[in-house]
Amino acid sequence: MPELPEIETIKRGLQGLILNTKIVQCEVLNAKSFRGDAGQLVGQKFVKIDRKGKALLVRLDDGRTILGHMRMTGQLIYIGPERIASDLMNGDRFAAGHPDGNFVAEMPSRHTRVWFEFEDGGRLFFNDLRKFGFLALMNDEDLARDKFLQSLAPEPWDMAPDAFYDIMQKHAKTNVKAVLLNQKLICGLGNIYADEACYMVGIFPGTLAGDLTRSQTDALLEACCNVMRRSIDSGGSTMKDYVKPDGTRGNYLDKFAQVFRRDGEPCLKCGTTILKTRVAGRGTHYCPHCQSEQKKEFTNVD
Ligand SMILES: [Zn+2]
Repeated sequence: MPELPEIETIKRGLQGLILNTKIVQCEVLNAKSFRGDAGQLVGQKFVKIDRKGKALLVRLDDGRTILGHMRMTGQLIYIGPERIASDLMNGDRFAAGHPDGNFVAEMPSRHTRVWFEFEDGGRLFFNDLRKFGFLALMNDEDLARDKFLQSLAPEPWDMAPDAFYDIMQKHAKTNVKAVLLNQKLICGLGNIYADEACYMVGIFPGTLAGDLTRSQTDALLEACCNVMRRSIDSGGSTMKDYVKPDGTRGNYLDKFAQVFRRDGEPCLKCGTTILKTRVAGRGTHYCPHCQSEQKKEFTNVD
C-alpha cells in the first residue's frame, strides 16, 4: 500500500512534469475511479500539487481540485514526450505509488482506470489494480466538507513534542503502535514506518502508550520524522528503484528498512534474530533484545 512518503514522491515527481500544460484529453476507463465530469478538464491546466496525509490535491486553473486517493494499489505513471534527466525518472517515464509491473509496462494497461493527455504530448495514467482508489473533481466547498481531509491529524514534523506526549498519555492503555497508526491522532505513519520508528528508539511496539517516559516520546516523535524523511529522500517506491539496472525487480525496502520484513535476519544493532508478531492487528517486526524491556512492561500490565 502506498504510504505517505510514496505520495510525497508522487507530488514531487509530477510537479516538474504536468503543471501548466493544457489537458487535451481525459479518458475514464472505469467509471468509479473518477468522480465528477472528466470532460470539464479538457482545456484546463494543472497549476499546483499539494498533499494532505495520503491524499493528493491537484489544483486546476479554474480553482477546482482533483482529490486523489491511491488506497491499496493506486499508482500514477507519467510518460513524457522526451527523455528527462532526473533522479526520479527513468528515461521518459516517472512512476510512483503501488510498485508493480505496470511501472514498466506499456500504457494504458489493463489496470489503467483514468488517463490524461497534455498539449505537450505528455500522458498521465492512473492505474489501480484493486480499484479502491479514485480521483474526484471537487470545488473548495466540497473539499471543506470532505470528512477524510477534516479528520487528518498533524503530520509528525508539524507536531509539537508536548502534543505527542499528551496523545500517548491520553491513550495510556493503547499500545504504542496502534497510536502511531491512528491517522486521527498523528497523520502519515503506516505499518512500515511505525515499526521502523519503534526499532530506531528501542521501544517494543506493543508497549502501552502510557508507559512511555517523556524522553521516550520525544525520541519516538523524532524517529517518526526521520524514517519518513529518509524514505522520501530515497524516492519512496519509485520505478527507478523498482527496476534495477540489470532489469531485475528490486525491493525499495532494502534502501532504508532496518527491521520491517527482516524477520529471521540478524538485528543490525546487536545481531539477535528479528522476530515477527502481531500488534494492533498488524504484522510487527522487532528485535527482542533491543526492544525487549518495554515488552516486559507490556506483558506485565493487565
Ligand atoms: Zn537488536
